[in-house]
Amino acid sequence: MAIQSIRLFGDPVLRTPAAPVVDFDKELRKLVKDLTDTMMDAPGAGLAAPQIGVGLRVFTYYVDEQLGHLINPDLDLSPEIDEEGEEGCLSFPGLAFPTPRAVRAVAKGFNVYGEPITLEGTDLMARCFQHETDHLDGILFIDRMDPKQRKLAMKAVREAEWSGLSAPVIKASPHPTGGKAL
Ligand SMILES: [Zn+2]
Repeated sequence: MAIQSIRLFGDPVLRTPAAPVVDFDKELRKLVKDLTDTMMDAPGAGLAAPQIGVGLRVFTYYVDEQLGHLINPDLDLSPEIDEEGEEGCLSFPGLAFPTPRAVRAVAKGFNVYGEPITLEGTDLMARCFQHETDHLDGILFIDRMDPKQRKLAMKAVREAEWSGLSAPVIKASPHPTGGKAL
């Protein structure tokens, strides 16, 4: 097990776009293992490399008992939007808010061996792919909320006990809401 510290909102790494993976080597296999171990320990439904301080386009997911990872993802989204689904984030411990997301997503990318793969998801799986791919672009779920919801979310963030404690040594709370923290 190689559980890493999860970076919290306020850490600049969460706002930094990640670089595409070029070398499908031993280092990358270690990164995927660290992401998987850290996500399962949290526990969370998804985790992106910037959340453990690594600026590479890699995420892991664990949704509906399906465990996997995707490298250099490219998403194709359905036009139907789920406006009401609650979403959390391991970088915002204990908080969850309605966040609009496409209902279905096709995610193309690569596995850890550099082989092209295509994943298809609906509902929570689709939400996870969108949330994690956003992390790789420095986009956070608060950015996807409508302005009124974002205002409520930011108030809750300011009042959260971890607010302002964005140093990398801080371990995220092991209590994400509803098992949907991503
Ligand atoms: Zn997240």
